[in-house]
Amino acid sequence: MGIISNLKRALSRTSIILSKSIAKDKIIISELEKVMLEADFGFGITTDIIDMVKNSSDKESAIEEIKSYLISILQSVEFKREFPKGKPYIRMFVGVNGVGKTTSIAKIAKSDKRNGKKVMLAACDTFRAAAIEQLEIWSNRLSVPVVKGSYGSDPASIAYKAAEEAIENMYDELLIDTAGRLHTNRNLMAEMEKIARVLKKIDSDFPQETLIILDASIGQNNIQQAEKFASSIPLSGIVLAKIDGTAKGGSIFPIVRDLKIPVLYMCTGEGLDDIVMFDPVEFVESIFPV
Ligand code: GDP
Repeated sequence: MGIISNLKRALSRTSIILSKSIAKDKIIISELEKVMLEADFGFGITTDIIDMVKNSSDKESAIEEIKSYLISILQSVEFKREFPKGKPYIRMFVGVNGVGKTTSIAKIAKSDKRNGKKVMLAACDTFRAAAIEQLEIWSNRLSVPVVKGSYGSDPASIAYKAAEEAIENMYDELLIDTAGRLHTNRNLMAEMEKIARVLKKIDSDFPQETLIILDASIGQNNIQQAEKFASSIPLSGIVLAKIDGTAKGGSIFPIVRDLKIPVLYMCTGEGLDDIVMFDPVEFVESIFPV
């Protein structure tokens, strides 16, 4: 099955919601407004789209206009990844517990390994013993090494050790899992800053990427989560997880528009192959059922 049909299936809930507003010969404006808010497009984007539909002469041109507008939001922030020569590409993964962080790391490790990269993991969520164990399970299953410390040990020192090992053993990529406990937010943010700071002591380019994992099903609350992390560490991109289980696929638009952070990956299920590089055109075509 092709990427687009997989994506269409994963986004079927959001697209079913949108299709409710499209009758045979016209778009039902009151219904469109309701379903867009339901799908978490947010008030600003919904209002822009309603204005577009009102001023449009026919259904087909209205749909084309809506699609171009939505694509332009997603394309408004760009990201270019360049793997460096002679040193590892380090990616930190941040996000609150339960969003799908560990699973996303495993998916990316598998995909990059398949593309010929020598990948290493670092278990820097030392706050939860289960998080270390989970990463070890993925490391065994994928046959990629993991650097870890004991429960409660300093995450920044594990990241430091992992970066040194990755350099020494010429790994192409180091993927760093971090903690995501919500109840001690201030400490968590200080911990993220410290990990980034110690990595920079080794090489000022490290970490080359910091990705925030967001759970698509929680909709607009994601904006607050991302803002909190962005206030302590620069975020290069978003991994949008659990897009398969939700009718709130519209939340991606206010997230990108308001935070100006690009979506780089989208996770469409629990399996290790359920991840796609994010493509704005494919995404919009998949949620717009015409
Ligand atoms: P973490 O606490 O952020 O590391 O979250 P985990 O990676 O442990 O994932 C939490 C739960 O969400 C697990 O049951 C995963 O199988 C599930 N999960 C992760 N990604 C996805 C996804 O893209 N789709 C679905 N349906 N479930 C997911």
